[in-house]
Amino acid sequence: MASLTTDAPFIYHPEYDINTGKYVDMCPIPSRQSSINYVCYCNGHTFNTKTKYTYHTKLKTHQRYISNYHEMINDLGTAKSYISNLQLKNIALEKEVAKLKRQVQMLTPSPVIMMDELD
Ligand SMILES: [Zn+2]
Repeated sequence: MASLTTDAPFIYHPEYDINTGKYVDMCPIPSRQSSINYVCYCNGHTFNTKTKYTYHTKLKTHQRYISNYHEMINDLGTAKSYISNLQLKNIALEKEVAKLKRQVQMLTPSPVIMMDELD
């Protein structure tokens, strides 16, 4: 059986438990599979086996990351909304700049007209 290999690791995301309303660790690696690399953003650690995954999830850094995951997701939503607003503002400002450039072009005398004035 061919194995799936990749250079870029997949990002590990905890699962949302609808019963508790909290994010929990769920091993994404199928049994007897070790070719897919996952990276956890708690500390950038990568793992590709269930054993390494289990070890990683017991680290205090990871447990703190999981317990704060919901708040971090909300912060990301706020940040994305903020970025989206900035992008809209940027588009409006780019249009204003283009409009002002056209006005400047129209108000700037061309060299031909200036030469006529010298005569
Ligand atoms: Zn982690």
